[in-house]
This record gives sequence, C-alpha cells and structure tokens, in this order.
Amino acid sequence: MSSEKKAYRPAGGRHHVVVIGSGFGGLFATKDLKDADVDVTLIDRGNHHLFQPLLYQVATGILSSGEIAPSTRQILAGQENASVVKGEVTDIDIESKTVTTHLGNYERSYEYDSLIIAAGAGQSYFGNDHFAQYAPGMKTLDDALEIRARIIGAFERAELTTDPAERERLLTFVIVGAGPTGVELAGQLAEMAHRTLSGEYRNFSTDSAKILLLDGAPQVLPPFGKRLGRKAQRQLEKLGVEVKLGAMVTNVDETSVTYKAGEEEHTIESYTKIWSAGVAASPLGKLVADQAGVEVDRAGRVQVNPDLTVGEHKNVFVIGDMMGLNRLPGVAQTAIQTGQYVAEQIAAETEGTQQPEQREPFEYFDKGSMATISRFSAVVKMGKVEVTGFIGWLLWLAVHVMYLVGFRNRLVAAFAWGLNALSRKRWNLATTRQQLHGRNGLNKLNGLIGPDADFPIEVRDTRRFGEK
Ligand SMILES: Cc1cc2nc3c(=O)[nH]c(=O)nc-3n(C[C@H](O)[C@H](O)[C@H](O)COP(=O)(O)OP(=O)(O)OC[C@H]3O[C@@H](n4cnc5c(N)ncnc54)[C@H](O)[C@@H]3O)c2cc1C
Repeated sequence: MSSEKKAYRPAGGRHHVVVIGSGFGGLFATKDLKDADVDVTLIDRGNHHLFQPLLYQVATGILSSGEIAPSTRQILAGQENASVVKGEVTDIDIESKTVTTHLGNYERSYEYDSLIIAAGAGQSYFGNDHFAQYAPGMKTLDDALEIRARIIGAFERAELTTDPAERERLLTFVIVGAGPTGVELAGQLAEMAHRTLSGEYRNFSTDSAKILLLDGAPQVLPPFGKRLGRKAQRQLEKLGVEVKLGAMVTNVDETSVTYKAGEEEHTIESYTKIWSAGVAASPLGKLVADQAGVEVDRAGRVQVNPDLTVGEHKNVFVIGDMMGLNRLPGVAQTAIQTGQYVAEQIAAETEGTQQPEQREPFEYFDKGSMATISRFSAVVKMGKVEVTGFIGWLLWLAVHVMYLVGFRNRLVAAFAWGLNALSRKRWNLATTRQQLHGRNGLNKLNGLIGPDADFPIEVRDTRRFGEK
C-alpha cells in the first residue's frame, strides 16, 4: 500500500475546502467557489459528473455514456483554485478535520478547513439486497450499461429459443417502482420494443414484448398529484405498458418477480427486472452523523441544521440527496441549490463579510418537477401549473438541454432527441459482454479475496462503516 503519513493541504495556506462528490451538489458548490479566496479539492470515486436524470436514455440506447457524464477534470480545467482527486472516501474524521481516500493501493488523507459532503444516494431494496443481482437499480453508468445489455440480451435469446414459454419469459420486462425513473424507463422501453426494434428479428415480433410497471402505491408519479398521475398512466397504457398499482413486490429471483396485491400473491415469469423503487443515502452520512451526535432518518439522510451543517460543526456541511431538511425532495434542484448556498457562505466568511453565526437559513426555491413518457409527451408540475403532452415535452427538452454540462453534450443530446423524434432508429444500442457479466464477475472476485481484504472491490455502494 502507498500511504502518505501527513494529511495533504495545498501550499500557500489559503482556506482549504474539501468537497466529496462530483454530482450536482458537489460540482455546483465547487464551481461557485471559483472567485473565492480558497483552494478546493473535489474528491469522487468516479472521474465524471453524472447527469442521473438521463441514465434511462443510456439504458435504452438513445444517448451514449459520455453525453451524460463529462470528465470532471475537463469541466474544472479552467478553474485554477480547484483540484480533482479520484478516490473512494473511506473515512472522515471531523475532530482531526481529515478525509481519507483509497484508489487501488493508494491511500491519501486531506486536511480541510471546510468540508462539503455531497456523496448522494444509492438504490435501496428495503432490506432485500439479494434482489439486486436479479434486478439492477439505475444509479450509475455501470447500472445503465448493464441494463442495456440485459434488455438487448433478452431480445437476442428470444430470437434463438424455440420454446414459446421461454420466449414469453424473455420478452417480459418488469420495472419495479413507478416514480419518474420507472415511468420514463417503461415508456422508452415500450418505444424501443414496439418501434425501434420492430421488424429487426426474424423469429418473433417485438410487438409481443410485455412491459410491466409495478408499484405498491395507488398511483404512478405520486409527487405529481392525482391528475398528472392518471394522465401519465393513460399515456403509458397507450404505449402498451401494463401498469399494476397496489402491487407490493415480495420476491425477485432469476426467472420471476412475485408481488402481493391485497391478499393475493402473483408471480410474473421474467428474466429482465429493473429496480427503481427506493433510495438510501450514502453511508458516509451515518459515519458523520454518529461523530456529530445527530440522527439519520430511515433512508440514511443526515438531519442537518438550517445552514446545512451537522451538530455543532459549523464547517461541516451535508447537502443534496444525503441531507434531511424540511422533507425537501431528493432531486437535482435541491442538490444544486444547497451546493450554491454553501459556496456562498464559505466565500462570504473567507472574505470576512459574514461570520458563521450570521448565516441566513437555507431556503429552497421549488422550480417544479417533470417526467417524459415518450417522444413528444411529458408531464410537468410547476406549483399549481400542470402541463402535459407536447408542450410538456418541449419544456422538458429545454430544461434538460440547459442543465446538461458542456456545450458539445447539449448539442449532441439535442440532436439525438431531434433525430429520435423523426426516426425510429437508436444509435447507441451496442452492448458488451463485460457490461452484462462485469458485476457478477466482480462479486465473485470479492468472494475470492474475502471480506477482510485490504482493498475490497466496490461492486455496489454497500459499505457499512464500523462493521466488518
Ligand atoms: C435514474 C435517476 C433519475 C433521476 N431523475 C431526476 C429528474 O428527472 N429530476 C430531478 O430533479 N432529479 C432526478 N434524479 C435525482 C437527482 O439525480 C439527484 O437528486 C441528484 O443527482 C443528487 O445530487 P447529489 O450531488 O446529492 O448526489 P449525486 O449526483 O448522486 O452525486 C454523488 C457523487 O458522490 C460520489 N460518491 C458517492 N460516495 C462516494 C465515496 N464514498 N467516495 C467518493 N465519491 C463518492 C458519486 O460517485 C457521485 O458522483 C434522478 C436520479 C436518478 C438515479
């Protein structure tokens, strides 16, 4: 192991801000510190800023991974006071003000004056983690590419089998969770089966593919309200998606999904299952909450003060999906606005125009929510205003182009959506064996090296601090 004994801090003695996570919260905080008299070190286990709301478009072959995940180094190359570090944060010590990272056998520590923790959330299987290997969630590029490989793999096997029951199982796709991700994925999968792939297979019609969307709630898109939920459901059904509400999933295995509706239990035979039902905040939240003497909620979100700090620690901020405050939603706008707020406080305090005790509480500005159902159709809720159909889709288009990072990515994504609206083809359907088998391979490798290995391989974000 290569380990530096002394914790790093930049030369020059300026206020050092360490940011964990290059998602919406961490990246916007870092960018907003551009003109502040500070040095910023941005740490992430990945090398990119991921635009999670478009992961489903990578999974269904509309966009390629680079278009939604630009390199963080490239984004920040022109920001002289920012450095980027790739590494898994494995420890935070808020007494000694240090953060420890690992990248392979490199262990490094960073000493901070202010710490911004924006490590986001992972998928939650509500205590049934064994579902994960049969029903991947959609949180990372790996997830999206694996799901793409599973979907295409199912169609390819359906072309080969001569057993009608087996073909039906292969052509049945089940999505668990009818929030925005589940709805968007179901809509795109239906279009992919019934439009994009139509006529490409010789031994079956892709029209026979079944897409089922299950949720325990009584409506789709609960945060959008009943009216928009009903509209979205109708639109999905028009596309051929079977929506099953009040359906509590009780088991997932290699070949099926079982759910309970009322007292009755049903089993759907299916090879391709996708989980989009729950989130769990990064375990770094609990690590810090325990040290600061504050609570985490059931989803692991840290209960923060009105200025987004933890406990008595005025220099430790938790933001975005990891933060629990006034039941704010875990959406990109919460992460962006909390990142910007924290950067503003740190900049003012290093300039000497404000003391930490003078901070105004964070205030969230609700810019609304939106979800696309298919080409030309989206539901949008902005306060009391509700928009659906083509106008909703145009609004969705404008907002997503605006928030994608990088001029080229905006241009390419807008071009891809335009082309997708006109042509039935999709240009990002390539899959590889590594995408399909990589996760199981890594799981096996982890099993071989054992749980006490110096460098356990992170397959999913399942690390629990303090437990062996
Ligand atoms: C599929 C999907 C669809 C979504 N759709 C929408 C939508 O339509 N509209 C909307 O507003 N929101 C949507 N969201 C939610 C939105 O993406 C999140 O609320 C937002 O990304 C949260 O930002 P964040 O900065 O808190 O965390 P993230 O963006 O998740 O960033 C966290 C970062 O921390 C890094 N990290 C985590 N742990 C460690 C560690 N131990 N060491 C180092 N780095 C670490 C991760 O690699 C990641 O880069 C969607 C989310 C998903 C998953």
